[in-house]
Amino acid sequence: MTAPAANPPRPRPEVMAIAAYVGGEHKLPGVNRVITLSANEGPFGPPPSAREAAVKVAGEMHHYPDGGSIELRKAIGARFGLDPARIVCGTGSDELIQHICHIYGGPGTDVIMSMHGFTMYQIAGTYAGSRVLKAPEHNFTTSVDEMLAAVTPETTVMFVANPNNPTGSLLPESEMLRLRAGLREDILLVLDSAYAEYVEAADYDAGSRMVDAGENTIMLRTFSKIFGLGGMRVGWGYGPPMVIDAINRVRGVFNVNKIAQAAAVAALAEPGWVERCKAHNTVWRAKLSAIMTRLGIVAHPTEGNFILSDFGTAERAKGADAFLRTRGIIVRGMTAYDLPHCLRITVGTEEECGLVADALTGFMATQHG
Ligand SMILES: *Cc1c(COP(=O)(O)O)cnc(C)c1O
Repeated sequence: MTAPAANPPRPRPEVMAIAAYVGGEHKLPGVNRVITLSANEGPFGPPPSAREAAVKVAGEMHHYPDGGSIELRKAIGARFGLDPARIVCGTGSDELIQHICHIYGGPGTDVIMSMHGFTMYQIAGTYAGSRVLKAPEHNFTTSVDEMLAAVTPETTVMFVANPNNPTGSLLPESEMLRLRAGLREDILLVLDSAYAEYVEAADYDAGSRMVDAGENTIMLRTFSKIFGLGGMRVGWGYGPPMVIDAINRVRGVFNVNKIAQAAAVAALAEPGWVERCKAHNTVWRAKLSAIMTRLGIVAHPTEGNFILSDFGTAERAKGADAFLRTRGIIVRGMTAYDLPHCLRITVGTEEECGLVADALTGFMATQHG
């Protein structure tokens, strides 16, 4: 053992102020079958054609991938009716969030997010050296007025997840347009639409219309949720040419690996996949919410594939979490989101939803008397 160095290399102080992101857990000691409802993953595994495509290109893994993700951007463009030249792919949309913060943020700048917005914005903004400001929410929903009131002369970037994770709440397109209209032209608005495919509400746009309307809005999307490819790490952004150009200068040159690119292209082509997953989610998020309500758990309205479930107190939420674990079910604690009285529960398969409902029923039965 050597003695600790008297003068070790020191990270920038803001780095040590970051609480490392804790992903959803997938394992429980001593439990054979774990039901993972902690990471908002699609419940049906990968699309079969994506699995096939991944196996097929495995024999080419000695080759570097296409650094421009050309085929993938073409396939995304065709699927969503967008110009591939204005699309950039990333190692998950998380990579793009990081780059956006470093490109437009930095010391002396402010990044704005909502109170219970996605924690990755806080991590990436802080890492870049920006101050991260959190605007109050009303009713667990992003407030356009509060977001606009939070703007400072130093503000350069604003993040809005729509629907938001972990609250599940949605802003209609009319509100998003009001937000953009009220923001200074030089502020980049980042519309994170990771859950766009699950939205049933009318008056919703994932963001491409707003991107097209100006030079200062970018939309982020992902293959990690409805497309069932969280382990492949593929996300993408659609934005103004200048923003896409800036990201292309700094992103990982070969950021999306060869197998991931092939899997994502195939996932887009899987017939009926999105429609089936969405239809299942719509039915079961409503059923599960109704069951929770009946049990006395507040199920916040959600347009995503998850439900923010309010148990009233942190103690009771912790108790429910522990109870579910005894049945092999892992959900997401919300302490990191300043919601310790809540759990976020992903909508799983029909069987998984039934098991969660049974377990919650069992837990709530222990809470009376
Ligand atoms: C899951 C999620 C993402 C996607 O992350 P990836 O890096 O693409 O897996 C982005 N934003 C929000 C709000 C999410 O919940």
